[in-house]
Amino acid sequence: MEPSLTHRMMPSTEVIERGRRRLHWNTAFIALLGVGSYWGLVFAPIRFWLRVVAAMALVVAAVATATNVMHVGNHGAFSRNTRRSRVAGWSSDLLGASSYLWRFKHNQLHHGNTNVVGFDTDIDQMPLARLAPQQPWKPIQRYQHVYMWVLYGFLTLQWFVMSDFATLVKRRVGDHTLPTKPRARDVALILLGKAIHLTWAIVIPMFLHPWWGVLAFYLAISWSVGFLLANIFQLAHCVDIAEFFDPDAPRRGPDFELHQLRATVDIRCGVPAMRPFVHWLMGGLDFQIEHHLAPKLPHNVLHLAAPELRAACAERGVQYKVHPSITAAVRSHYRWLRTMGRDPSVG
Ligand SMILES: [Zn+2]
Repeated sequence: MEPSLTHRMMPSTEVIERGRRRLHWNTAFIALLGVGSYWGLVFAPIRFWLRVVAAMALVVAAVATATNVMHVGNHGAFSRNTRRSRVAGWSSDLLGASSYLWRFKHNQLHHGNTNVVGFDTDIDQMPLARLAPQQPWKPIQRYQHVYMWVLYGFLTLQWFVMSDFATLVKRRVGDHTLPTKPRARDVALILLGKAIHLTWAIVIPMFLHPWWGVLAFYLAISWSVGFLLANIFQLAHCVDIAEFFDPDAPRRGPDFELHQLRATVDIRCGVPAMRPFVHWLMGGLDFQIEHHLAPKLPHNVLHLAAPELRAACAERGVQYKVHPSITAAVRSHYRWLRTMGRDPSVG
């Protein structure tokens, strides 16, 4: 029997271990960047424009934490030690979103059912946006290719103040009940995470700065982080070269790899000088196909698996989709939003 595509692209154990060690140094660097920029923004006696620079550095640190530490940790890819990966995953709570609920929404619903309508909550933004042809159309969605870019920025704020609490109260995401009833300890940790985020991001700065300034900076930083994170995930799946599926689409067992390859698109940064920075900021998710085939691989070895996977796909006549630049990816998402925003009853 032919080896699976995932098997063909898999780096050696030594390469994976080396990747994990680099991951830990990278985390220390991101933590330093986060603490340094927060100190500059809140405590340092500096001019306004330098505070703006510190806020921008904090945006970069928060996005890098989400992509390089939180996402990897919650997939159990941060360390071979499950507990250490779980601790890395808690960085999500520091950013305001529950890691406990993220693991259900992202690992199970999104990864297990990528682009499947009614299961993948990343493509469920109804009624504000219609992101798949199987979803019902509403007149307001005619303008979704304009306003969704603005709404994407509120992603993290919405996690912090609304959706996590709603999920906890209803014990389900969309139509999907949480696999296990959250224990008192899980609920306490979710609430503790929210309290810690509120304390460092709003309460402490308010002791030193006017409340309106704190809220303005908080909203600007939160919007920027949400905008970048939403784009990292949407440009890989919610584009006009990806496919969308009905709830009964075969996607498990032998169908898993082909399903993921049809629903996921890689991105290559078109400016070579920017490539290392973009790759780092995206937490390796410019290689989203490789991540979807092997979510437990540390993200910094995905680029090493890509040439093998691409060659294996070419040999077997399977399409391997790549946006050749970030602009091409943005255009593809824009086109998809505009297409889905058109009234389907008008030919
Ligand atoms: Zn993932």
